[in-house]
Amino acid sequence: MYSLRIWHFNQRVRANRRIWGVVEESVEPRWNLAVRHQAGSLAAAVAAARNRSLALSFGVLLLLGVAVGMIVVSTRRAQRLAAQQMEFVAGVSHELRTPLAVIRAAGENLADDVVHDPDKTRQYGELINREGRRLSDMVERVLLFAKMRSGSVQFEQVEVDMLATIDDAISANSTWTDDHSVTVNRELPASLPQVLGDRAALTSVMQNLISNAVKYSRRGGVITVQARAVGSGSDASVQVAIHDQGDGIPSSEMPHLYEPFFRGDRARAAQIQGSGLGLSLVKQVVEAHSGHIEAVSTPGSGSTFLVQLPAV
Ligand code: ADP
Repeated sequence: MYSLRIWHFNQRVRANRRIWGVVEESVEPRWNLAVRHQAGSLAAAVAAARNRSLALSFGVLLLLGVAVGMIVVSTRRAQRLAAQQMEFVAGVSHELRTPLAVIRAAGENLADDVVHDPDKTRQYGELINREGRRLSDMVERVLLFAKMRSGSVQFEQVEVDMLATIDDAISANSTWTDDHSVTVNRELPASLPQVLGDRAALTSVMQNLISNAVKYSRRGGVITVQARAVGSGSDASVQVAIHDQGDGIPSSEMPHLYEPFFRGDRARAAQIQGSGLGLSLVKQVVEAHSGHIEAVSTPGSGSTFLVQLPAV
């Protein structure tokens, strides 16, 4: 923005001068016109314009830097996800291979008439049943994960007795607990308020947490399952805590526990069976029931998973 100001007003003055015999008529100016930028002198105006364009250039540079940073972060994330998905495929295949091998071997023995003792036949039947159930659980877990991802899962809304779901989950894990020589200690009240939700989904939450406690416990360890009612009125809720005496979770792994396909270093190194989907599903189901889950762990002395669900 320029401003025009008239600083001087002079009388018209005519003066004749003779230079080299030529009469020269000169006209003195009537007006002196001074133009001044509002910001001050021309140098100041140029400096201001330069600062403006410098600031603009830095802004564009900063934007470019942020964009490059975001591309790097999302590329890393995509690489990590791809690696986790490969691990998941390997983990699922491994999990499917073990029960399939057991079922095939048992089936072959029965077909070849190797087993004659009725007791042995019953044991083979139990083995096939148990491994078949393990396969079904795995398939159900993967299907539930796919459904949750696509947002097409519909949970039932019925009154659920959490004590019954805990009992079901403990019995579903009984073979595991026997195999690992782990004892499950119940510290449960006589009754609990009901929770509104999907019974099967809430049972699978408890089952997952208890089977993790078994998997990551040391042999001969004790798992404690506690439940209690907390709050009252509209804040009333049911709290379930599952505590194990395993090696615990390193603090660096805590923020990743609920990421799909995440498996801890120890779980991978010791080849503890799993796919890294359990806790991700648990969290999604709990949150779909307006609840929340929390993990507390002291490396070396075990972990506690705490689930809180609103009561009816
Ligand atoms: P998975 O058990 O199939 O690996 P999860 O999603 O259930 O997958 O658990 C993710 C990871 O969290 C596990 O690989 C393990 O490192 C860690 N984790 C879960 N529960 C426990 C626990 N009770 N004690 C120690 N680590 C655990």
